[in-house]
Amino acid sequence: MNPRYDPAKPHHRPEGFQNVHTELTSKSLAEVLRWRWDASRRGLPPPPAAPIPVVAPALDFLQRNAKAGAQMQPTVTWVGHATVMAQLGGLSLLTDPIFSERASPVSFVGPKRHQAPGLAIDALPHVDLVLVSHNHYDHLDEASVRALNRQPGGPPLFIVPLGLKAWLARHGIHKAVELDWWQSHTLAGPGGEVEIVLVPAQHWSARGLTDRLATLWGGFAVFAPDCHFFYAGDTGYSRDFSDMRARFAHRQTPAQGGGFDMAVLPIGSYEPRWFMAAQHVNAEEAVKIHRDLGAKQSLGVHWGTFALSDEALDEPPRALAVQRAAQGVPDAEFFVLAIGETRVFKPR
Ligand code: ZN
Ligand code: ZN
Repeated sequence: MNPRYDPAKPHHRPEGFQNVHTELTSKSLAEVLRWRWDASRRGLPPPPAAPIPVVAPALDFLQRNAKAGAQMQPTVTWVGHATVMAQLGGLSLLTDPIFSERASPVSFVGPKRHQAPGLAIDALPHVDLVLVSHNHYDHLDEASVRALNRQPGGPPLFIVPLGLKAWLARHGIHKAVELDWWQSHTLAGPGGEVEIVLVPAQHWSARGLTDRLATLWGGFAVFAPDCHFFYAGDTGYSRDFSDMRARFAHRQTPAQGGGFDMAVLPIGSYEPRWFMAAQHVNAEEAVKIHRDLGAKQSLGVHWGTFALSDEALDEPPRALAVQRAAQGVPDAEFFVLAIGETRVFKPR
């Protein structure tokens, strides 16, 4: 039963939630077994051709920048997988923090990290805001959110989709706001107001066997005076992104500085397509999302960290390069970072 059920909203169901443009049907056990059997028979994923690039993080700069208030320079830092630290509007925020060894309900089994986090959790500057896109184990990690909640200087504000505030409360986390799609929360940042909007994504949710689609999923649009930031979470390709561009057009006119300054988009976990396409974009679709959104720059994440699918861990950036060329997107416009690397960009 969905306690937030609103029959007027097309993505609400009495028992949970659904996508806007595609009804996501559950993969059958037979399909899951066929995928796993095929992968093991064919030795997939293949080993990476080269090590995943890793650099030492710019800790001093990030700490100084975190304290710079209205003088903060907008940055993104890739911690690994879909965890990004972004600094904007005088705030330091994290997307889907996972610093644990495994993306799993238990510590001894499940997808294991291939790379240490680019920043240790206790080396982060004070985190003001945590954006959780959905409750899959590679996005909502209990140990990581508990540790952030205990950070020196007080807990961050957690912003989550409908249904996850209760999950956080069960884990002792109370500084939280939950949002439905298109609902927003506004913070007074040192650089002015920062508005965070939960936006649709084509995906699903579950942590166990009985809570499929019970809590909402989504992405985030963050509007700060110095930066319009976008984080897609996990998503298949859909019209949701051109819908968003239309919806936000009135606040992103050329005179107002244009579209999103930085979009963080998933580029990994896409093979095999027959199994993954509805829930995870490949590089071709990620580049289409970048174009649909009209983002000025995009950062590709959700690769290189956990092997969750059949493509090699280092394949997504190569596929991205092919798609940039095929779709006429300049290399600098949709890039990847090394784990631990920071990109500083121009305030709008
Ligand atoms: Zn997911
Ligand atoms: Zn994921």
